[in-house]
Amino acid sequence: MTIEELLQRAETATTHPPLPPGGIPLQRVPAWIRWPLRLFILPFIHLELMAEKIAKWIIRPPFEQKGACKRRGNCCHYILLPEVKDGFFKWGTLLLFWQTEIYGFYLRQRVESEGKPILVMGCRYLQTDGSCSRYLFRPKVCRSWPLIEIFGRPRLLKGCGYAIKLRDSYARKHPELVVLQNFEKERKANDKNPQ
Ligand code: SF4
Repeated sequence: MTIEELLQRAETATTHPPLPPGGIPLQRVPAWIRWPLRLFILPFIHLELMAEKIAKWIIRPPFEQKGACKRRGNCCHYILLPEVKDGFFKWGTLLLFWQTEIYGFYLRQRVESEGKPILVMGCRYLQTDGSCSRYLFRPKVCRSWPLIEIFGRPRLLKGCGYAIKLRDSYARKHPELVVLQNFEKERKANDKNPQ
């Protein structure tokens, strides 16, 4: 499956994807180790988010986020994380361990994007109503989505209820970016026909 096919599935899915063969794997790290670790890193996540906010306040990204989450849960079913190859310190293995054993993600499949391996993760904390059962502890990847960076194309899953709007000041200076405004049209269509 290509990344484009996977994204199309994630954008249009109306039912939950099948669980991995054998079900969601059990976490081997006990809860009394996992949760203190997550509590320990929580301030660092907030610090990083605050630094990003300040950077975006100083250099405003061309796009801004509109709309609201529809709680379809699709983004939590298809969390895309770059696969890091093991080097001397087995960094890739450690990262995967952290994502699965501490954060609670589980590997659904692997795909490639521009020749680079991508891990497609599901999350054991996603509830059937599309809400997160560990909302206050959620990792940074969950807090930063949809992705609006100072540089680079914004990313979101179409149909999720959010839209990305090009700021008026940029639209005047960079008319080529106006093409991305179709996100906004889609949001309005979604608002008229909520799922
Ligand atoms: S931790 Fe919560 S927000 Fe993040 S993927 Fe899991 S269910 Fe979604």
